Amino acid sequence: MEFYVGWSHSDAIFTNYFPNSPILVSGVPDNRGAIRRSKIKPEKLILDCGSVFYVKQKSRPTLKEIYNIQTSMLEECRPRSAYLVHFDEPMFTKTTLSEQYMAMERTLFNAYEYLNLFSISVLPNYVEPMGVIQGFDEASIEFSAYELTKMGYKNFGIGSLLTKNHKRQIQMIKCAADVVGPNNLHVFGVTGIPQMHAMVEIGVRSFDSTRPTMAAAFFQVFYSRPFRTYFLSKSHAKISSPRLDEPLPCDCPICRENAADLFIPSPREYMRLRSVHNYYHLQIAFNDIVAEKNGGDIDVLSNVLRARN
Ligand SMILES: [Zn+2]
Repeated sequence: MEFYVGWSHSDAIFTNYFPNSPILVSGVPDNRGAIRRSKIKPEKLILDCGSVFYVKQKSRPTLKEIYNIQTSMLEECRPRSAYLVHFDEPMFTKTTLSEQYMAMERTLFNAYEYLNLFSISVLPNYVEPMGVIQGFDEASIEFSAYELTKMGYKNFGIGSLLTKNHKRQIQMIKCAADVVGPNNLHVFGVTGIPQMHAMVEIGVRSFDSTRPTMAAAFFQVFYSRPFRTYFLSKSHAKISSPRLDEPLPCDCPICRENAADLFIPSPREYMRLRSVHNYYHLQIAFNDIVAEKNGGDIDVLSNVLRARN
């Protein structure tokens, strides 16, 4: 099971520190050309469609335009594996049942058109389309998953889970996994440790998270074994939140260099260093959950955190 770290053009380049990191990037204009600038290019990619970005814009690009951005990004790094995701109509902006239903139908229509784009283009065989399962309850998730399967999708992602509480999220993931098989399922944008436990239990193929960067931007540092988060004592967080004013022992590439850098709130350059440290600890926490499930040794360092030979 793999943890894709969500990445955009202004974030830390995780692969320069951890060459095996799987990366999820959105096909939005600002990210174009950004992967080319990484010293070490990602080998495993998910190219999302950036729908959360596009729905906020006055006008929306066509499916083909987004597809062109995604394929141009592939040429920047030539990964070993890549999943391309079609445009999904975000459901979190929809309030009534009929609006939610229409969003789901629209997403299925996009999925169909997207497969047509794939069938008329010549792409390397390491590139595969990923269908987005959407729904607002078990019945609609099952419906959406069956429709995508009928169209011919073999890889699936489940999204629009942002507004649900974690128990509901887990039920929805389980429901989708029952239809398409957990091995074929990616979970978009899940951040909590309880969800990670549940996903490992269900056996989904992968998930993605932007949490290392988000937390770093909000002046938080992670530590693992056990996993915990602290606010920098210089931040303006509520006084009741756990705070820290100096680094704890850590073997990440940032702390090995100069751990005090984590505690410099801004500019952005320090936020990036903090996000690399946070990624290291979230990856350890995730790896330990997997090891515990498999009855393995939790002291083993994840392959993702090793330098490439
Ligand atoms: Zn560190």
